[in-house]
Amino acid sequence: MPNFETVEITTDLLLIGGGMANCGAAVEAAYWAKKNGVKVTLVDKAAMDRSGAVAMGLSAINQYVNYAKGVNTLKDYVEYVKKDLMGIARDDLVYNIARHVDSTVHLFEKWGLPIWLNDDGTYVNEGRWQIMINGESYKIIVAEAAKNALGTENIYERVFIVEPILDGDRIAGAIGFSTREEKVYVFKAKAVLAAMGGAVGVFKPRSSGEGLGRSWYPPFSTGSSTYFTVMAGAEQTCQEVRFIPIRFKDGYGPVGAWFLLFKSRATNAFGENYMETNKGVLADYAPYGDAKPIPANLRNYLGMLDVSAGKGPLFMRTEEAIANLASKYKDDEKAFKKKMKELEAEAWEDFLDMTIAQAMLWAATNTAPEEKSSEIAAAEPYFIGSHSGASGCWVSGPRDVAPAEYQWGYTNMTTVKGLFAAGDASGASSHKFSSGSHAEGRIAGKSAVRFCVENPEQPNVDPAVVETLKAKILKPMEVYEANKGFTTDDEINPNYIFPKMYMFRLQKLMDEYAGGVTANFTTSKALLEKALELLVFLKEDSEKLAARSLHELMRCWENIHRTVQAEVHIHTVMFREETRFPGYYMRADLPKINNEDWKCFCNATRNPQTGEWTMRKVPVIDLAL
Ligand code: FAD
Repeated sequence: MPNFETVEITTDLLLIGGGMANCGAAVEAAYWAKKNGVKVTLVDKAAMDRSGAVAMGLSAINQYVNYAKGVNTLKDYVEYVKKDLMGIARDDLVYNIARHVDSTVHLFEKWGLPIWLNDDGTYVNEGRWQIMINGESYKIIVAEAAKNALGTENIYERVFIVEPILDGDRIAGAIGFSTREEKVYVFKAKAVLAAMGGAVGVFKPRSSGEGLGRSWYPPFSTGSSTYFTVMAGAEQTCQEVRFIPIRFKDGYGPVGAWFLLFKSRATNAFGENYMETNKGVLADYAPYGDAKPIPANLRNYLGMLDVSAGKGPLFMRTEEAIANLASKYKDDEKAFKKKMKELEAEAWEDFLDMTIAQAMLWAATNTAPEEKSSEIAAAEPYFIGSHSGASGCWVSGPRDVAPAEYQWGYTNMTTVKGLFAAGDASGASSHKFSSGSHAEGRIAGKSAVRFCVENPEQPNVDPAVVETLKAKILKPMEVYEANKGFTTDDEINPNYIFPKMYMFRLQKLMDEYAGGVTANFTTSKALLEKALELLVFLKEDSEKLAARSLHELMRCWENIHRTVQAEVHIHTVMFREETRFPGYYMRADLPKINNEDWKCFCNATRNPQTGEWTMRKVPVIDLAL
């Protein structure tokens, strides 16, 4: 085994991940921890200033309920989320986040985030729930508050967490390695809050060659939340609900500002608005098809129908939207020119705030948005329970709202004692986005401190287990060292597989059998069974993963994490015998929605001893809020 130093850290509450959710947890937990003598430690695989999905910045905060002023009610938000998720959402969790999210946004503003203001001082809304920000430095501002709250001496950056450590049926800590130094880190904790984001790169991306790595979802989150919690034995929910964003093609630029702020239309190549021409299809998905706004997956589906019928490509009609907005100034040439310049600047800024690559693509293809439409397309699938997907852990609901079926302990605790989840890591509570993830992190952080206070005993960490895990984590380096002389070309060796090649295999498998881009987002029981069969061979070969450096070691583990994300997804898509989310995926063998049998959560648990999966249906309970 490579001779890595082992660094041991004993704490009370361990926050894994330094993204939006755990930045929220850090601020809140630090406050309650101080009052109760609890130690809080945070570990992130990257540097918190620019880690996670908000790394590049955002141009809008997507959840602001504005309920204190009576603009919206909490019930409005819950109804919106549930309809968007085709009836499958936990009212208690969505409600709990909604009632706390506005205060989180006010904290962001206090910490220095510039939020666009109207002349009367109110926030500029992009849509009903979204507000506009100058968000290039969003993550830096939020991370600064978290760092100030915890103290940098309690933060470990560039440490990739691989596995949970258990003491019987409860969590006891986590183990990982530094991505910069030859060190293995063992964190011993009474409670752990997992918030390692969602997953990208499970399915084959549209981008290839030198564009590989360009995806809608930033490449940092690779299924660690799912792997970590699954391996700890935590029950998962909604793992079939992947997210497919329709975005500006190839640069993956955001469409929200275009649809909501600029009131743009999207059309097929013949100028037809597919939301109009295909709207008859929505009746098949009532009552969700009748919802306003139409659920994200159904909006996708209407566009996909045109692409399948050969009416593509689809276009965002930017030139038309800008002309419409400027038209009311057309009688005053000076005012018209000024407005056009303003709109043009806003259009570019929208991309420069969060998807710079799209602005570069516009520049490279001589695209002036005021003159020419831009192509939009459905991206490959991602797992992002905080956005318009729903995958994540099945967590206990808030005491004052959750029905007995959804409550078994501390708020946001998973089914494993002492293990909490928030943000992308907690399921069935979509549409929390950056602000709601931060708010949910605050909720979970406070709850986890309470757990530490009421369960003060430090769980036992077996040194033999630590040694076994250490050997398992470093094995790819050992595999490489033992076999590197076997061939003259490092890249070709019958005794090992490098993580990049392994990733290609996983992505091809998911793409072709589990409904990726190539399969037109369509799958079936037979295809999923084949996927599981091939996954067995892939998992066998994961034992042969090889790493030449610490960076490659991280890549190995990222792909093992992705593999478990893939596995739980396949099992759950197979279990749900209907097509509830067309536009995210279609079951060719079961093409209709079946509300009678499947208006329920599909939950999955892996037995840590046998690796067997157990699936169960859990009723969706509509609360009178
Ligand atoms: P993240 O913020 O992604 O944080 C995950 C953290 O886990 C990171 O710090 C990462 O480094 C760490 N991590 C991962 N694996 C490991 C590991 N193995 N060990 C240790 N640490 C690990 N929201 C909005 O409000 N408005 C928008 O306009 C908007 N646009 C978006 C656009 C895109 C492309 C994406 C992907 C998301 C967007 N969101 C938006 C949603 C928002 O970014 C997420 O809801 C939010 O970031 C989720 O928070 P999180 O803490 O769960 O995950």
